[in-house]
Amino acid sequence: MIIVLTPNASEQDAKEILTKIEAAGLKPLYMPGVERTVLGALGDERVLASLQLQANPVVESLKPILTSYKQVSREMQAYDSQVKFGNTTIGGGSFAVIAGPCAIENQAQIEKSAAIVKKHGGIGLRGGAFKPRTSPYSFQGLEEEGLKLMQQAAQKYDLPSVTEVIDASHVDMMSQYIDGFQIGARNMQNFRLLKAVGQTDKPVILKRGMSATIEELLLAAEYIFNEGNKNIVICERGIRTFEKATRNTLDLGAVAYIKTKSHLPVIVDPSHGTGIRELVSPMARAAAACGADGIIVEVHYDPQVALSDGMQSLNENDFEQLMLGLRPFITAAGKVVA
Ligand code: PEP
Ligand code: MN
Repeated sequence: MIIVLTPNASEQDAKEILTKIEAAGLKPLYMPGVERTVLGALGDERVLASLQLQANPVVESLKPILTSYKQVSREMQAYDSQVKFGNTTIGGGSFAVIAGPCAIENQAQIEKSAAIVKKHGGIGLRGGAFKPRTSPYSFQGLEEEGLKLMQQAAQKYDLPSVTEVIDASHVDMMSQYIDGFQIGARNMQNFRLLKAVGQTDKPVILKRGMSATIEELLLAAEYIFNEGNKNIVICERGIRTFEKATRNTLDLGAVAYIKTKSHLPVIVDPSHGTGIRELVSPMARAAAACGADGIIVEVHYDPQVALSDGMQSLNENDFEQLMLGLRPFITAAGKVVA
């Protein structure tokens, strides 16, 4: 429930209502604005009704939040959230390109990849150290050693880094090396993991589960937000459908839909979304056109020798072409290159 206070309500009035909400076992939210203060109460609506808040003269109106996700909804916050990632921001009018290899393989590989990302205008470096592979026999990642290599490369090229976390017990260790967490598709509903990253203040790129509905995706984001971390970036990375020609079906309708329902930034992963190198650039342009706040793409200095996802990885020339082709679409969508 959203509780809009009258313009003359004091901070003390707001405090008293928040105390009442908390005493009833509901989660109180305080959102002071320029013109008026808005409060929130999350939990059992029947308990809230029993508080009779509408009888309070400083309460102007009560507005129920109709969606199951609350704090990440536009009903709760009408304006776009901006997420700080290194020295740049994701969301709120800019278009961010995060790029890098699927997995960190060795020092030379991550450094060469970082150099390409920086040279052609990427704002962040991606790379997996803990790889959740479908087969136990596939390359599983360099783990902590990989994080060290990524930290060096990120520092050398002055790029913030993001990497996938697969286990809640790794969060503290990983925090020393990286600037942002990625929650992978396979872990979108690993609620302990969501809570663990929610207890940090680092940006979290939350990828859509391959069979997850948009509502489930936003409820997963709500788990993170509810722990106090508001630095969430939603990532559409394709879902599993009957279609087999592409690795996944990139649901760009979801991007446009989420932008209307949530204030969180939304980025697109056209690499996992298609699985086919030639489709990455066109779908990156489509992502910009449909209102996404950025993309995350796989780039490898030599995709032929990549230990994972080489088929969908771009080399330097492909990435350069992607960046050049993308610019007019970013401008047409009314955004600026981050
Ligand atoms: C990845 O980014 O390399 C990855 C494994 O992505 P997803 O979780 O979307 O499959
Ligand atoms: Mn990958």
